[in-house]
Amino acid sequence: MKCNEVRRQLVALADGRLGGSQRDSVLAHLRECAGCRELMRSLEADATGLRQDEPPEVPPFLTTRIMARVREAAGTSAGPVRAPVPARRLIATAAVILAATGIWLGASLGRVIFRQEFEYHDRVAVMECGLPLDGLANQLFGE
Ligand SMILES: [Zn+2]
Repeated sequence: MKCNEVRRQLVALADGRLGGSQRDSVLAHLRECAGCRELMRSLEADATGLRQDEPPEVPPFLTTRIMARVREAAGTSAGPVRAPVPARRLIATAAVILAATGIWLGASLGRVIFRQEFEYHDRVAVMECGLPLDGLANQLFGE
């Protein structure tokens, strides 16, 4: 095995990820090659140092700033979807117009029904009692 082939495998060997014949070949090379052995020792020292290192302490302001950013992002992109203010105003205006139209339509329909009812009773009164009520509906409803 050549040095550069071995050196590419050294990290895997240091991590314990190298097995079988690959591992045997690398170990055989390390027994004979001082340069690769030295590199392997250096890698193992680094790995041990990394494993022993305490995780870096996170400064409190960093957590506060990150959480503020998260809340900010959540406030702008998440949450319930709302129609923009102009659209809401348009909807409110449409509702008012619709309600006014409904009231006007109801009142007009009521007048027509009341008038028809009155005219019917007018005719009935004329037929039954001979009372001259003809034209009273027109006087009352302005026609
Ligand atoms: Zn070597």
